[in-house]
Amino acid sequence: MNLRRSEFHAFTGSGSSRFLYLVPSAAVVQLDDLSHAVLETLAAGDRSATDLVETLSDRWKADEVRTSVDELLGLRAIHTVAAPPPKPKAEKPKRSIPLQTLVLNVTSKCNLSCGYCYEYGEDKIVEAKTKPRFMNEATAKQSVDFLFSEAGDSPSVNLTFFGGETLMNFKMLQSALAYARERGAALGKEVNASLTTNATLLREEIIDWIVANDVGVTVSIDGAREQQDKFRVFANGMGSYDIILPNIKSLLARHRRRPVGARVTLTGQNLDVASIYTHLFEEIGFWEVGFAPVTTSWQREYAIEDEGFQKLLSGFQSLAADFLDAALAGRRHGFSNVRDTLEEIHKGMSKAYPCGAGLGLMGVATDGDVALCHRFAGSDDHKLGSVFDGVDHARQDEFLQKHHIANKTDCASCWARPLCAGGCYHEAHTRYGSTVEPNLHYCNWIRAWTNTCLEIYGTLAERKPEYLAQFD
Ligand code: SF4
Ligand code: SF4
Repeated sequence: MNLRRSEFHAFTGSGSSRFLYLVPSAAVVQLDDLSHAVLETLAAGDRSATDLVETLSDRWKADEVRTSVDELLGLRAIHTVAAPPPKPKAEKPKRSIPLQTLVLNVTSKCNLSCGYCYEYGEDKIVEAKTKPRFMNEATAKQSVDFLFSEAGDSPSVNLTFFGGETLMNFKMLQSALAYARERGAALGKEVNASLTTNATLLREEIIDWIVANDVGVTVSIDGAREQQDKFRVFANGMGSYDIILPNIKSLLARHRRRPVGARVTLTGQNLDVASIYTHLFEEIGFWEVGFAPVTTSWQREYAIEDEGFQKLLSGFQSLAADFLDAALAGRRHGFSNVRDTLEEIHKGMSKAYPCGAGLGLMGVATDGDVALCHRFAGSDDHKLGSVFDGVDHARQDEFLQKHHIANKTDCASCWARPLCAGGCYHEAHTRYGSTVEPNLHYCNWIRAWTNTCLEIYGTLAERKPEYLAQFD
């Protein structure tokens, strides 16, 4: 009975220790020398257990080799040629997934004119003219009711406010959150509130409300003055850095109960990850800094192209090395991209879908239409229902069936698919005109970055396992 290697990705931790990332189960296992030798031998072609015993007999006894083979079979790192692992099927979730996060696009208006903004982008040109620019109180309250009714038995829900510039509709935010908390108390559910802002309108009265209501805040900011003012400008071209800095400092000084994060949009012209991080984390004092490449078609002059992705990767890798040093030394580091991926690896996340969009997360447009997520809110093509009439579950099922990772043939042989699952639908829509397409333009980048995170994971598992215990 011949044996064959199953699907895995091999990587190293610190020193010479070897690990496997087992793709079907998304588990990480450490290899001893013998298991490594068995896998190396099988790399040259299928072999029987008897052949393996003979080939490895100069270093290991027969019963040791057989035990190792049994262990590798148990882990599904290898399989018998006669019984290959079953191919994953595109099945919709066995039970309906409750809605956990509702993102309310409270306005499509913004007081900045960032050069790369996707709001009311090409997928929404027609709708932009017909939708209200601000969500009204009745729609917001209906959205809250919708969230509770779709949340099923979940003990808590996440209500997130997004824009445009979210704080341009501050009055409505106040009443929507007050209503959500009141309904939550009546229903015995906790309401976790958060918002994203460009920080231009963060005046004291708003900070008071944020602090009093325990609202999580993410600030969209691209770095120091020169980096921020390259794209994040007012309509007259004036940069926003000098306006937002005092507001952010005041927020950070006063909002101590919840971590305030910075969210950076990287463009072809702004890729110096290290200096952005240093400014935002060390100099300004954000709790964490997350980076996302700009979502755009490749024709735009600010799109990140091949050379840019290389630069981005080396910037991420060197910041990830700093993260590892800090974790080993027991210091906090705020590079959230690596921390989030470590958590996914630790939890054995194996994604059928790249994110929760259309599943546990949905976005609401200003008129109450419900879409896949905040980035699609307002696009009629990606509508799943409305907060007034509920979700069109047949449409949702069709979406989930079509977008299941098992239907992405390009991803079928990719070892990074448990964590990537084809990437962001909005990015795919912007780049290829369809949410169904996997984001093949950044596969090399994703695989290299995932490998870096796995190496960090392996090193921590060996040298500082207590760091990973926080993700249990
Ligand atoms: S998009 Fe690329 S990196 Fe992601 S799972 Fe598919 S093939 Fe792999
Ligand atoms: S589709 Fe993209 S933008 Fe929307 S939730 Fe998923 S990853 Fe985020």
